[in-house]
Amino acid sequence: MTNEQKLWKEIFEKLEIMMSSPTVDTWLSKLVPIAVRDNSLVLQCHNESAKRVMTTKFINKIKQAASDCNSFIKDFIFITEDESSEYKEKNQENSLATIDTYFNPNYTFDSFVVGSCNEFVTASAVHTAEKPGELFNPLFIYGGVGLGKTHLLHAIGNRVLELNPNARILYTTTENFLNDFLSMIRTASLRENAKEAFRKKYRELDYLLIDDIQFLQGKSETQEALFHIFNELHSSGKQIVITSDRSVNDNLNLEARLVSRFSWGLMADIQPPSIETRIAILQRKAFEYHININDDVIRYIAEKNTVSIRTLEGMLKTVIFYQKLNAYRTIDQLSLAKEALKNYADEGEEKLTSETILNKVCSYFNISRDMIISKKRNKELVEPRQIAMYLITDLLPLVPLTTIGTLFGDRDHSTIIHARDKIADLIEKNEGFRAQVVEIKNKILNN
Ligand code: ADP
Ligand code: MG
Repeated sequence: MTNEQKLWKEIFEKLEIMMSSPTVDTWLSKLVPIAVRDNSLVLQCHNESAKRVMTTKFINKIKQAASDCNSFIKDFIFITEDESSEYKEKNQENSLATIDTYFNPNYTFDSFVVGSCNEFVTASAVHTAEKPGELFNPLFIYGGVGLGKTHLLHAIGNRVLELNPNARILYTTTENFLNDFLSMIRTASLRENAKEAFRKKYRELDYLLIDDIQFLQGKSETQEALFHIFNELHSSGKQIVITSDRSVNDNLNLEARLVSRFSWGLMADIQPPSIETRIAILQRKAFEYHININDDVIRYIAEKNTVSIRTLEGMLKTVIFYQKLNAYRTIDQLSLAKEALKNYADEGEEKLTSETILNKVCSYFNISRDMIISKKRNKELVEPRQIAMYLITDLLPLVPLTTIGTLFGDRDHSTIIHARDKIADLIEKNEGFRAQVVEIKNKILNN
């Protein structure tokens, strides 16, 4: 099995549980994994209309499945068979010098909510996409985690390709750039054209978009490589856009000459959004998920003490999921949202940990911690153990499966996946069982 087949298999198995079988048979089972691009999986659809259905109707479910698997795949690119042959040929022609022109179709300027926190940076980004190399070169975007830097880079990419489908534009994470550089160095002695291919890839561009430049700190050789690329692109009027989680005056430890180049252009920051902007963003996301959600719930989430929009989105998703799980209860949406977000601690509040969840499950079933993590396989232990595993993956989606495995007496992550899926399945099929799990969950959340 190829890498992309393996990745897809895992996500597909999840989708089989989440979605109805006619949907799976008609649409999802026909997708063919073609390649992996950064954090995206390229899937081939059987025709143009299937592609449209995927990008409009199923994309969120598929992403959800990927995130449920804790897959590093965060996004999906859908192509038709025609595009795929083109894609494969391109891949073979110049394997190292491939230009990645795929951008996340959800990250556009249209889907980017503008407020006073990001007005200036957005206008600069639009200008850069439409009039490259003119005014703001480079455009240096900085701001905290989850405030929309990556979104803006993709929006630039989408806009550029909309205006000129043949533009040579490359989006790269700094990490990828580093890997690319290192693999070039490694193979340079073996492959004559490795250096040339690297050069070609980065220097024959119209646009170079580099995300999270702070990861280049301490990598002096790679900084030097970037310095030369920068000079070449800049002097021929090609547009460069860089993002960073901090400003050059604030602990961005890169070589002085590189930093001085960055200040040639425009430095634009993204500030944390105001309450009004947060509300607008949440409304936009709810709209994108095709979910109806009360305004007071949106406001409640927006007022939570978080800075990152990614976290806000996470809370929104948690609320949506929790509503589904508790659909049978007669309780208003707002109270339900409050319950659901109990574990998103405001600053200063105590945080929920996997340890706490494990202990709560133990006390619910009245069994000891040693027993629940032991290797014993009697039914009185297996089910509580699996419920505990499930609840940890459910309530703390960011905890890696392998870490959970370690907590449960060094078990393999596949055991956790198995437990999680099995409990999810039981919840769906058995009303009584579901009520029990919800009860335990409430005990944990209400602490
Ligand atoms: P960063 O790269 O700065 O860490 P991202 O670009 O990954 O942040 O943004 C995190 C999430 O927040 C993404 O899903 C993105 O779509 C969303 N987001 C951030 N800012 C906005 C905005 N102004 N309007 C709509 N969505 C936004
Ligand atoms: Mg980012």
